[in-house]
Amino acid sequence: MSDIRTGLGWDAHRIAPGRPLILGGITVASEFGLEGHSDADVLSHAITDAILGAAALGDIGMHFPDTDEQWKGCDSLVFLKHAMSLAYAEGYRLINLDSTVIIERPKLKDYRQAIRERLADVLSLELDRVSVKFKTAEKVGPVGEGRSAEAQAIVTLQRLGTGPFHEAPGFGQQA
Ligand code: MG
Repeated sequence: MSDIRTGLGWDAHRIAPGRPLILGGITVASEFGLEGHSDADVLSHAITDAILGAAALGDIGMHFPDTDEQWKGCDSLVFLKHAMSLAYAEGYRLINLDSTVIIERPKLKDYRQAIRERLADVLSLELDRVSVKFKTAEKVGPVGEGRSAEAQAIVTLQRLGTGPFHEAPGFGQQA
C-alpha cells in the first residue's frame, strides 16, 4: 500500500517599503517588499511548513527560530532545502506541490514560470508537479489594503517503506 501524506502550510508577512519582494526565490520588481527576519519569502515559508507538516516534523519556527542571528536576512530557499532533506532522510519523496500567493499588487502572472522553475529545481521535482497561483484579496482586509501578503501551500509526500534511509542529496543541484 502506498503511504501518502499531505501537508498544509500558510504564512503572512507585513508589506514594507525599501525591502525586496522575493517569492519562491525570485525577486519581483516592486516598489515595496516584505518585512521579516529572513528574506521574508512568504511563499517559500508556506511550502517549507507544508513539507514539514506532511512528514510531521514540526514547523519552520522550530527549525529556524527568528531569534537566531544566523537566519537574519537568510535566503529562504535554505529553509526549503533543509525541510526537504529532513523529509528525505525519513524516507519521504515529494510528489506534488500546489500553492497560492495572495497579494494586492504587483501583478505576478509574468513571474509564474520563473517561480515554478526555481521551485522545481530546489525541490528536485518535475515542472508539471509544481503549481503556483496568484490571487488578490479584492481590496478587503490587511492583504486587500496592501498592508500584508499571504501564501498557502499544500504538498503531497510518499513514504518509501520504513528505511533505513540514506543521507539526502543536495536539493537544488540537478543531477
Ligand atoms: Mg514567514
